[in-house]
Amino acid sequence: MIISDFHTHTDFSSDSLQNPEELILHASKIGLKYLAITDHFDNGSAYVPKDKQLDLKKYYQTISSYVEFAKQNNVELAVGIEMGYVPDKNQQNTDIINTYPFDYVINSVHEVNGVDCYFEEYYQGKERFESYIKYFQAVLSSLDAPYYYSSIGHIGYVIRKAPYKQVQYQYSEFGNILDKILIKIIKQDIILEVNSSINGLDDKVIPSLEVIKRYYELGGRLVTFGSDAHSILRLGEKKEHVCKLLKDIGFKSLALVKSRKLFEIEL
Ligand SMILES: [Zn+2]
Ligand SMILES: [Zn+2]
Repeated sequence: MIISDFHTHTDFSSDSLQNPEELILHASKIGLKYLAITDHFDNGSAYVPKDKQLDLKKYYQTISSYVEFAKQNNVELAVGIEMGYVPDKNQQNTDIINTYPFDYVINSVHEVNGVDCYFEEYYQGKERFESYIKYFQAVLSSLDAPYYYSSIGHIGYVIRKAPYKQVQYQYSEFGNILDKILIKIIKQDIILEVNSSINGLDDKVIPSLEVIKRYYELGGRLVTFGSDAHSILRLGEKKEHVCKLLKDIGFKSLALVKSRKLFEIEL
């Protein structure tokens, strides 16, 4: 059984209207014992209006102030952040992560050379292979981010809005770089996030089933579940599916984090 959701957004993210209190109450209602609120911080992103950039101090203080409230509702709340990896902001982002003691940090690649793969603009003038390999290269370099992070978010984000006939990729197409990514994750004790925010694909998750299997085969055991919900409607979405998928591969536990320390709960 999965009783955690470690990737959620609230109205601190420019693309969410979700009130944090309601999110916590809903988590409690659907039986989630562990919840991480992980709002977006994409430092200097051209896609976030200036007045919608995350106010880090206010965000950290506000979400921290809900920890006790969550506990009263039987939910262990991790104060988290989803850090968008932007290489030329590495120093600034390191200072931020050192200043605010977020429990849990997801390191995610949204932008490749300043262009977010969520938007059509990213794919213009690129063949499928080029679009995907450039994204995977960015994921590989994100693993060298100099700041603390707990997990690597939604590997395969590039396929969420890809305009190609064949959206899903085979492991063999990108095996070389995917192996490099997975081996590095394993060596660095980083958690692989299984993210259920993807539509229209058989696997129903990113990374793909093949990638998760390969991670296991290479010795990776640290996985976590994240719905990437931007409202209560998607909170915990597909957790039963993810639970079965992980158990079938051989995983016995999920990895969670509190105060930047890893712990595991039974699947
Ligand atoms: Zn993301
Ligand atoms: Zn997210």
